[in-house]
Amino acid sequence: MGFGDFLSKRMKRSIEKNIQKSTLTNENIAETLKEIRLALLEADVSVDVVKELISRIKTKAEGGYIQEGVKAHQQMVKLVHDELIEILGKELAPLDLGKKPTVIMMVGLQGSGKTTTANKLANLVRKKNSKNPLLVGLDIYRPGAIDQLVELGHQSNIPVFEKGKQDPIKTAKQAIEYANQNNHDVVILDTAGRLQIDKDLMNELNELRKQTNPSEILLVVDGMIGQEIINVTNEFNRLLKLTGVIVTKLDGDARGGATLSISHMTKLPIKFIGEGEGIKALAPFYPKRMADRLLG
Ligand code: GDP
Repeated sequence: MGFGDFLSKRMKRSIEKNIQKSTLTNENIAETLKEIRLALLEADVSVDVVKELISRIKTKAEGGYIQEGVKAHQQMVKLVHDELIEILGKELAPLDLGKKPTVIMMVGLQGSGKTTTANKLANLVRKKNSKNPLLVGLDIYRPGAIDQLVELGHQSNIPVFEKGKQDPIKTAKQAIEYANQNNHDVVILDTAGRLQIDKDLMNELNELRKQTNPSEILLVVDGMIGQEIINVTNEFNRLLKLTGVIVTKLDGDARGGATLSISHMTKLPIKFIGEGEGIKALAPFYPKRMADRLLG
């Protein structure tokens, strides 16, 4: 597939219309950048990120990176695509599943999709990595959270370890012991979420991290919460040293601008995206695919 194929017809038309064969000018570069800017803003990419991206493309485009000639528009398409990939990360960021058992700690605010995603992830490592996962219910604060996990686990035939309202750290340790004895090679901790970040929540999560030594600490964030997503991600990362982010609710019309903002502002790898409520609606994050979608 050529670079041009990653971009939408609309974007390609705009670039081709503005940058005609051998007539490369600062004016038609500016006109094209204006359209790219609009497409990115429509995709909910934060204003700061759009500004920086456009300025980078502009500097390269005007600085002789694009040679005048028949292929000027193709070079422009490639340049935009490359800059998006540069921000989104070039490679797929895989899960670290080396340890036995691998402890994966899921963290996030209430309503972000953490419990649903824990179940989706368990299903994914079972199917794609041939693992035998164990889900662990540790959200003792949100009423019904543990029952919800048990129900989801039941539906997808994945065992759930839970001890009701018992201290989450004690429960997590018992779960790891249980996993060792019962051949579960991946342990997914569904930790407590709150409506907003607070000190107690962070202290509890930090203690849990120290006591369970997770290979992965994945923040689940709702892709629809707008610019607040950066503050939430930074705050969780500051205290817990995240290994990656999962952005949910990128189904339907949500175009995924949040992923570009997170990648650019926090430099954390996005490992998966949630694209629906169903168990299969969790996909590895492919930067190239997202670049295509953002300009869609
Ligand atoms: P938690 O409080 O973070 O554990 O959130 P839940 O897992 O209970 O999810 C909150 C709501 O978001 C539920 O209705 C989920 O079905 C829904 N949800 C989670 N992920 C996605 C997603 O990727 N797309 C859509 N459309 N809904 C999702």
